[in-house]
Amino acid sequence: MSIDLSIIIPIYNEQDNIPVLYNRLTKVAQSMSLSYELLFINDGSADASLGMLIALSQTDSNVHYINLSRNFGHQIAVTAGIDSCKGDAVVIIDADLQDPPELIIELYAKMKEGFQVVYARRNSRSGESFMKKFTAKMFYRILAKITSIKIPVDTGDFRIMDRKIVEVLMKMPEQQKYLRGQIAWVGFNQTYIMYDREERHAGSTGYTYKKMIRFALDGITGFSNLPLKFATIAGFFVSGITFLLSLYALYARFVSKDYVPGWTSLILAVLFIGGVQLISIGIIGEYISRVSSNVRNRPLYVVSDTSCSKN
Ligand code: UDP
Ligand code: MG
Repeated sequence: MSIDLSIIIPIYNEQDNIPVLYNRLTKVAQSMSLSYELLFINDGSADASLGMLIALSQTDSNVHYINLSRNFGHQIAVTAGIDSCKGDAVVIIDADLQDPPELIIELYAKMKEGFQVVYARRNSRSGESFMKKFTAKMFYRILAKITSIKIPVDTGDFRIMDRKIVEVLMKMPEQQKYLRGQIAWVGFNQTYIMYDREERHAGSTGYTYKKMIRFALDGITGFSNLPLKFATIAGFFVSGITFLLSLYALYARFVSKDYVPGWTSLILAVLFIGGVQLISIGIIGEYISRVSSNVRNRPLYVVSDTSCSKN
């Protein structure tokens, strides 16, 4: 049986946020008068979160939970939710109330205007360190520069998407999840609304710098081959310089005769081998980039609509 709205909430040590979160989400969902589910994914919390989720699911039939066997990380927790949610529309929201639940009403209304994805773009972020905001801002902009698909800047995973998008996401079995990139990749009509990101209601961030760096690398390697192409570009650049320097070395040796014995052959050998090595690494890089896009195993294309009949 399908329902109108699924709300996916990853939970990692959020015991002090769950009660307020549950109340606000329930209020929002009921005000929208549609059938809904709150799907909590416990991502290996070490606090009382799991117990609270189990209790909620027993008293409220709109609440479901998935308990992962350990901490797999935010993106994988959300993926687990995407795999088992039933809604025609699906919202992803953080548990710490940095993403205001009340905005879901607006996201839903916007989607009904004819969009398949409406993401919430951050106007401002309060209560986060300068370092976090600065690195995030830089990262989003660099990523946008080096990828071929348009991944929206200043946007987290807080968004609503339609069933069509969810179906495609389930066909993308990649191990390194960078959901906001994957959703951008899927296409269809996507838009955004602006919002002000609030402070964490309680508790502390589950995103350590280590997790953030890994996440950033997943974003880059999943959606750009530019780093792999770097060796090729450097190889051709060095080879060009090598060629000019070789001409000079030969000129010094045979024409101007202004040379130290042994220098010409030595410099030619060094420059030549340097260029050849970089180009060779570049060639390997080109193959690896093709291998990695095959390993991602994404569908080749996604059909929006067609006049062809099925079967
Ligand atoms: N989270 C998770 N697994 C993790 C880290 C975080 O499920 O390993 C959840 C967390 O409970 C929250 C959301 O992901 O609902 C966003 O995490 P957080 O607020 O810690 O990140 P930040 O807002 O600081 O980037
Ligand atoms: Mg947060």
